[in-house]
Amino acid sequence: MRRPRDKRSWDEYELVSKLRSKERFIQDMESFGDVRVALIYPNSYEVGSASLSTHVLLKKFNEVGSVRAERFFYSRGFSKYYSFDSLTPLDEFRIWSFSVHYELDLLNVFDILNRFSIPLKKEERNSFHPVVVIGGAMTYFSNAMLSEVGDVVHKGDLSEGFLDCLSSVDHRMSREEIVATMTTKRVEPAFSNSLGESVFISPDSVFGDRYLIEIGRGCYRKCKFCVAGHRFGRPRFRGLKDTIELMDSVSPITKRFGLVAATVTDYPNIDEVAEHCIEKGYELSVSSLRLDSLSNTLLKALRLSKQSSFTIAPEGGSQRMRDAFAKGISDRDILKALELGRENGFRRVKMYYIFGAAFEDSEDRREIVKTAKKALGMGYTNVILSLNPLIPKPGTPFEGMPMEPIGNLRKYGRVIRSELALEGIKIDFESLRESQLQFALANIDKESSGELLGYVERGIDPTPILNKYAEEVNSKRKEWNKHGKEEYSGR
Ligand code: SF4
Repeated sequence: MRRPRDKRSWDEYELVSKLRSKERFIQDMESFGDVRVALIYPNSYEVGSASLSTHVLLKKFNEVGSVRAERFFYSRGFSKYYSFDSLTPLDEFRIWSFSVHYELDLLNVFDILNRFSIPLKKEERNSFHPVVVIGGAMTYFSNAMLSEVGDVVHKGDLSEGFLDCLSSVDHRMSREEIVATMTTKRVEPAFSNSLGESVFISPDSVFGDRYLIEIGRGCYRKCKFCVAGHRFGRPRFRGLKDTIELMDSVSPITKRFGLVAATVTDYPNIDEVAEHCIEKGYELSVSSLRLDSLSNTLLKALRLSKQSSFTIAPEGGSQRMRDAFAKGISDRDILKALELGRENGFRRVKMYYIFGAAFEDSEDRREIVKTAKKALGMGYTNVILSLNPLIPKPGTPFEGMPMEPIGNLRKYGRVIRSELALEGIKIDFESLRESQLQFALANIDKESSGELLGYVERGIDPTPILNKYAEEVNSKRKEWNKHGKEEYSGR
């Protein structure tokens, strides 16, 4: 292993060592395989260490006897990229496996490849370059760009089939042989029944030192804007006994647990798990709640876990919008959830909304304002609205729908803000600029992907090109406005 030779590399080396020294491993991850795989999460350590995919991949890859997998995270300030497991620099690894879950993380993938002068387009790489593998949630719905970049794109969950082909890779193989081995044996797409849990905890992760347990994957509800409902396969749940036994076995190390699922409240035994946490004095947090399936027991467990606020997602401002989204939630459900929150002692509530759908109008947005005011009237002292523009994604029924232009979204946002300039109400808008980039990256086609990669390789900022691409996609979709608006108008 090469030691750092200059100040910048030392700083990077020390930062990685420091973060690593604060981690506590729950499971032994020792591995001595010859096939070295870099597991790269193309976002910060704080975000990547809180993603169960990092944990699951580290565990499953290292269970393949011939493989030795180590973790890497993205930072704009990194240049050498030292492994979080052995401090080995990234360029000593033969296989670079990226987990891409969010569109914008793709820009970080490009940045890492550029830093090591690795061609972004797979066909321009030669035998001296690493094998670039791409997996992650984005492979479920958007593949044009990923297929241009990844020598191997693994679609779907990390399946037995993929691990099988990984185990066939030998460290003496050439790059071409590795790619051929990993691409010929795959079965895709694959939905795995095996759910994940943390293999380490870190105080520097965005969830702090919580032990994460995936209790469910996939969602049967099929809200029209949601990739999880349409692309992540049928719902699969962890058994109650397994969940509780896992908590109890980890409790000597940490009593703080985070439950992860597309919709935690759809877990058939959520109340039993909440009761168990209350009884044992465990702290509980959850990734997402359906407001029409909240229960006193769950809210009580969250409250006892020192959570000062609870979060609900009406998504659509008006009933018409929620119906158009197929959200299956009524005004009555929202009020009931808010009441339940107050009864359980919550004084802060966060509400997620999607705004700016092509078929939305000002009356729909006014309902967001009304609900926020109602929450204040019910005794909440802090009402936080998270407002996110609708980003029509491939693989959902909204594929093909235009995204509202940024100028209009800004205007809508200003109106909502002015009508809610009240003490106790805070509004967080998702960055509109980033939302448009997400839209462009999710919907980009093969030809434009190639063009974009060419620009990025020449060091040209991709933002203006992606913005232009988003506008082009929208202009091609004008046809949708003629028919789609009617379908969803409902007035
Ligand atoms: S928004 Fe939530 S409830 Fe709806 S499909 Fe997605 S995960 Fe399921």
